[in-house]
Amino acid sequence: MSKGNDFAKLALPEAMLKTLGALGFDEMTPVQAQSLPYILEGKDVVAQAKTGSGKTAAFGIGLLAKLNVKNFRIQSLVICPTRELAEQVASEIRNIAKFQHNIKVLTLCGGVAFGPQLGSLRHGAHIVIGTPGRLLGHLNKGSLNLENTKTLVLDEADRMLDMGFVEEIQKVISYVPKQRQTLLFSATFPDEIEDLAHSIQNNPINIKTITKESANKVSQYFYETPSRQKLQTLVKILGKYKPTNVIVFCNTKIQTNEIAKELRNKNIDALAINGDLEQYERVDVLVQFMNKSCCILVATDVAARGLDIKELSMVVNYDLPNSKETYTHRIGRTARAGQEGIAVTMFDEDEIDRISEYKDDSQIFENTKSLKIDKNFSMTPKNVTLVIEGGKKNKIRAGDILGAITKDAKIPGPSIGKIDIFDRQSYVAIEKNEIQNAYNLLKDSKIKGKNFSIWVLE
Ligand code: ADP
Ligand code: MG
Repeated sequence: MSKGNDFAKLALPEAMLKTLGALGFDEMTPVQAQSLPYILEGKDVVAQAKTGSGKTAAFGIGLLAKLNVKNFRIQSLVICPTRELAEQVASEIRNIAKFQHNIKVLTLCGGVAFGPQLGSLRHGAHIVIGTPGRLLGHLNKGSLNLENTKTLVLDEADRMLDMGFVEEIQKVISYVPKQRQTLLFSATFPDEIEDLAHSIQNNPINIKTITKESANKVSQYFYETPSRQKLQTLVKILGKYKPTNVIVFCNTKIQTNEIAKELRNKNIDALAINGDLEQYERVDVLVQFMNKSCCILVATDVAARGLDIKELSMVVNYDLPNSKETYTHRIGRTARAGQEGIAVTMFDEDEIDRISEYKDDSQIFENTKSLKIDKNFSMTPKNVTLVIEGGKKNKIRAGDILGAITKDAKIPGPSIGKIDIFDRQSYVAIEKNEIQNAYNLLKDSKIKGKNFSIWVLE
């Protein structure tokens, strides 16, 4: 056995250990050490680990160890969110696969021509790595046969869900035999991932290398401020904590509009949500907030009901909540998924009695005098949202939109954020500096063979 290589603890072929040594893989990373024993046993595994933790090699070693080179059929399928990631995964797997001759790894991604892929598929492959839309395209055409797949991997599952791929993934998986090993990797673990894991895996082993804080950690700050200075105090609070996304709660619909407008006047990006909005306006606002095209949502309790927002960095009680339950409910929206969150409550001198209702020992009462005004402070969102006037009813899928934007590789996959597809409309978040390019590209592109109206939400 190769000495000093702790991969040697695993039941791996000697030649593979040598290759791993040559790649400089001497020690297993935590996610590899925890997952590989189960993966090699053939168990289903769902693993959460942060980026750069070596997840690719974890499943790559697993599927290669099981591969039978003589059986020239697709034995492993890896589904990735973008072409860039699929190429990275392919390159890492090809490196590890050098321990044995003639292992064929094929990528099948959107944004490139179909024809050459058909040719490669006719030549055959052992391992296919692809993006959901293109894989489904081949399956629909009958050019991809997954009947011999033994290992199915979903890499960066959270990102795939963000991009709106869940239905496509389910469809692709319907072509893979039920008797298989399914491995799911994700950096974050929202409820949707758990649902997905549940629907495609069989008693999976759960691996988590991210140490989660025991409970959600919400730091609660209270600021006493005269009513007429509330807005100014809010601006100072934002300047002090510099949150990335915030919900500001107030008690009336009129206020939501006023506060959002005042904030925008101060170069702080904000949108109001309240019961007066038409359904389509409400969707526009929520989509923008969820896909990072809007930094602050100014909401009433009613309008914010049922919102499940991940990674919310701050909640502000602009007006005092009317009960302990409402308080707990409001602040519980921050610090999801083990992240730290901040809850700030503003109150007037006359409201001190009401504050005592929410009191607990962990709360910190700060003096407004400690807040300074930073004239240069501004909040601008990372993304801008493009709307396409076509959706599920037009059979548009996330892969179609992604393919249209990333074709010719003019816009890099990572600049594209969440894709939301509704019945008659679709939304795609694009990094600010690429929005003009994306608009021009989509304006002149056909999606599902049709030209759809598109516009930018501003
Ligand atoms: P993740 O998918 O978890 O974000 P990757 O699988 O892309 O991370 O791995 C990040 C980097 O670490 C890659 O360059 C990979 O080659 C390298 N790597 C993976 N496993 C090991 C290891 N055991 N020892 C050293 N480097 C490793
Ligand atoms: Mg990865």
